[in-house]
Amino acid sequence: MTYVPSEIEKKWQKKWAEARVAEVDLSAPGKKFYMLNMFPYPSGDLHVGHGRNYILGDALYRSFRMRGRVALNPMGWDAFGLPAENAAIKRGIHPRQWTVGNIARMKLQFARWGILYDWSKELASCEPEYYRWNQWLFLQLYKRGLAYRGKAPVNWCPADQTVLANEQVVDGRCERCGSEVVQRELEQWFLKITDYADRLDAGLDTLEHWPEKVKLMQRNWIGRSVGADVEFAVPATGGSIRIFTTRPDTIYGATFMVLAPEHPIVAALIADHPQRADIEQWIAGVRNQSNLERQEAGKEGRFTGKFAINPFTDEEIPIWLGNFVLMQYGTGAIMAVPGHDERDFEFAQQYGLPIRRVVDGGELPYVDKENGVAVNSPLIDGLKFPEAIDKIIDEIERRGIGKGMVRYRLRDWLISRQRYWGTPIPMLYCATCGIVPVPEEQLPVRLPLDVPFTGREGNPLAKDERFVNTVCPKCGGAARRETDTMDTFVDSSWYYARFISAGDDTKIFDSRLVNRWLPVDQYIGGIEHAILHLLYARFITRTLHDMGLVDFEEPFASLFNQGMIIKEGFRTAAGQWIPLDDVEIRDEAPVRKSTGEPLSAEMAKMSKSQFNVVPPDELIARYGADTERVYTLFIAPPEKEAAWSDEGVVGAHRFLNRVWNMTMAAVDVAPSPQLVRKTHQTIDAVTRRFDRFELNTAISALMELSNAIGDAPQAPRESVRVLLQLLHPFAPHITEELWQMLGGEGFILTSSWPVADPALMQEDVVIIAVQVNGKLRGQVEVANPPAEADVLAAVKENANVQRWVEGKQVVKTIYVPGKLVNVVVK
Ligand SMILES: [Zn+2]
Ligand SMILES: [Zn+2]
Repeated sequence: MTYVPSEIEKKWQKKWAEARVAEVDLSAPGKKFYMLNMFPYPSGDLHVGHGRNYILGDALYRSFRMRGRVALNPMGWDAFGLPAENAAIKRGIHPRQWTVGNIARMKLQFARWGILYDWSKELASCEPEYYRWNQWLFLQLYKRGLAYRGKAPVNWCPADQTVLANEQVVDGRCERCGSEVVQRELEQWFLKITDYADRLDAGLDTLEHWPEKVKLMQRNWIGRSVGADVEFAVPATGGSIRIFTTRPDTIYGATFMVLAPEHPIVAALIADHPQRADIEQWIAGVRNQSNLERQEAGKEGRFTGKFAINPFTDEEIPIWLGNFVLMQYGTGAIMAVPGHDERDFEFAQQYGLPIRRVVDGGELPYVDKENGVAVNSPLIDGLKFPEAIDKIIDEIERRGIGKGMVRYRLRDWLISRQRYWGTPIPMLYCATCGIVPVPEEQLPVRLPLDVPFTGREGNPLAKDERFVNTVCPKCGGAARRETDTMDTFVDSSWYYARFISAGDDTKIFDSRLVNRWLPVDQYIGGIEHAILHLLYARFITRTLHDMGLVDFEEPFASLFNQGMIIKEGFRTAAGQWIPLDDVEIRDEAPVRKSTGEPLSAEMAKMSKSQFNVVPPDELIARYGADTERVYTLFIAPPEKEAAWSDEGVVGAHRFLNRVWNMTMAAVDVAPSPQLVRKTHQTIDAVTRRFDRFELNTAISALMELSNAIGDAPQAPRESVRVLLQLLHPFAPHITEELWQMLGGEGFILTSSWPVADPALMQEDVVIIAVQVNGKLRGQVEVANPPAEADVLAAVKENANVQRWVEGKQVVKTIYVPGKLVNVVVK
């Protein structure tokens, strides 16, 4: 019999589905393992780069299951959002139809890869069964003062009369019609994540199994800074301006002040300015830029004509407006210390403002806080950080002009979207009662599906009178519904808990079961979610904790970010991408093999942004899903970027063929002691490598074992069985088929993972390095485990070593058990 993947793969996919092997009874006894891939946006086609992510999760799931864990691996769909609206507009179909079709295609692809999900717990965020609880959660947050209404700017296209998402604004213009986009202030809904800033920051310290890089990105995003708030009096208005600084020790060097152009005091400051109109025009221009554009625009400022008093020097210092000061950070006002801050220094030079040294050290701007000593600062002269800071803060507090302060860069979460395809925010507006939450028993507020959906002229919800007009539950009068929908990050902030109670229409989830199954043991997803998704999930979990619904604060115990799969190639002059298989080098330059066309000198990388790098369908039709799985996991460590190679695929296929043929020829003979040892060493290596995500080297170990079995005169069934079990997580179909042929009982998936016997792993002999005066001079081979006396005797007999010792006096001999002997001579 030859190995024909297409025949066996469909068969086993069907058998797994019929036996519902992946369905978990959440009350079953045993040690749980919750494996979760970030639920995908149902965009339709999946390519091999996506496959890496899901295949990795499936391999881990299968291995933990075989190792006796009650393992859960659910899947769902992050199904609301802008791309569905855009695709629907383009194709003239409803977003729901597009979404549902894509879900069906992706499920089929998952099945073809042999991925086992517990589909009995499937969920899709666009279904009322799910978003109802999104709305319920919003109402709980509202009750606790964690959801509130406030003003925030939106991108507005005056031609289309619609709000645009940031991605729809290209170079300040509407992506669709090219009109100049303006900023509009709208009343919108926020979630008060800033109340949790300190807990979200401190909690990062408890996440031992998260990549350091992700924790750092979160920490920077939260942006905890320690410093002081200080009031600077403004004699012209009789008021004051509050600044926040992380360097209160440099306050004697504050020679001017800079405000964000949108600071509320600006209007009063420039009211009598002779160039007021010019300044206002400049402010409007700055306000229309995004924060990023402002940062990239270069520093620019305007003098207000007014002065503040530096409370420590009592000098009058000019108050400027600067595009680089953002209202969202700190207080929207800074004291500028150009001697000790790069940004302030640049601004001072540009506008000829005074620069003063207040910290002793190198050339200005001197920013080394740890090593400088305060100078020109009467109260703290000669003091170093942090004493200097403490003393200044004491004085600020004594004089009642401010206080020590911790501030965060994190802002509240704006969740309102003026879009159709999302969860309706369950709030009403009544002329008599004001803002009224929809009563919980009236949930879900259903998203009407039969609205005219054109993507133009704003959100169709706002025009659907049947949706908008309703009755106030408080007074019985007429009320209007909120027509904004929720940011889809709300949907994904708690879905991992809903899998536990996916079908329950009486509550958001069963707390007892959720407390058993969460946190997720292994969460896998792309690095692009390092900040927002993970931060929002951590925030919402803390709110659920504070509501008494869960007893943990961190939703994901261990996080893994898989690397991208790229395909290397070259480009033609016209920009067409040519894969390496069709490239050859002639006269030291790359040309296209099939046409002889010259190609770009530089190698190009094709990544997931260019869709369908390698369509999995073709690959599976030719080699089978098991080959794709083995190759994908073998190509590189899973966290690293990996270059796809068609030759590598062939190599993986050859390996599986060898396993197939070996199993066909296997007989009932006892394996040699060497093969027994190799088998136990491989069990040990593969098991450890699973725990460390070293799946590529786990496969190498399996290839070595298969070579060792191949080297035996006859392949012993006992050894082949172990090989198949260890290989199962990587190549599930072929191993099920071969397991059955060997007479294995039930699914190989439900067989028990082999256990390594340390006694059988031991080599007969061990090689120990010998140094003379720290330099490697030879090695000795002794029986394993090595006895010290045997080792030293072997060293004495070793001619190589003795040459270096001869005629010298041995001062001492150091033995590092099992590893090394160092003979010290003089
Ligand atoms: Zn437009
Ligand atoms: Zn009312």
